[in-house]
Amino acid sequence: MHSTYNHPEYELEINPQLKTTLFCLTVRPELLYASAFPTLVETLTKKVLNIFSCECFNPHGNAFKKEVVNTETGHLFEHILLEFLCDEKLKYGYRQVEYNGMTQWNWKEEKPGVYNICIDVSSNEYEILTQALSKTLDVINGLIDDRHLAVKNKQISPIKEHLNL
Ligand SMILES: [Zn+2]
Repeated sequence: MHSTYNHPEYELEINPQLKTTLFCLTVRPELLYASAFPTLVETLTKKVLNIFSCECFNPHGNAFKKEVVNTETGHLFEHILLEFLCDEKLKYGYRQVEYNGMTQWNWKEEKPGVYNICIDVSSNEYEILTQALSKTLDVINGLIDDRHLAVKNKQISPIKEHLNL
């Protein structure tokens, strides 16, 4: 059930495993970091309601709200998807839900912009995954549209040069 989602600015491969799903997200160089998205915090606040109260284990020990503005786009994708997965599962009447994820990248071995994200949702939760993924892509695509608008209105420059390789 391997599948690929194509957008002009990124590509997402979805690879269901036995107990997890692997996502390979490849973004264009100007979208490597969440700081590429000018409407990030307001969009997340409005559309991904609990995202700022999630647990996030990052090297700096930052809360996600602090981490999010400087984080990698793959890590942002992971957290949005985790929230929507929980939302969807709650609709089935579960009282407590939890999903875990991990985002990794190695831009010396793979090309910059490739993120490998592993989430503990499996294909026996296909409905939940499909719904959550579609909501996640809506949010990401909205962030990209907002960015285009800001570039067009010259509020931000099209390329942010901060490739720390
Ligand atoms: Zn995290």
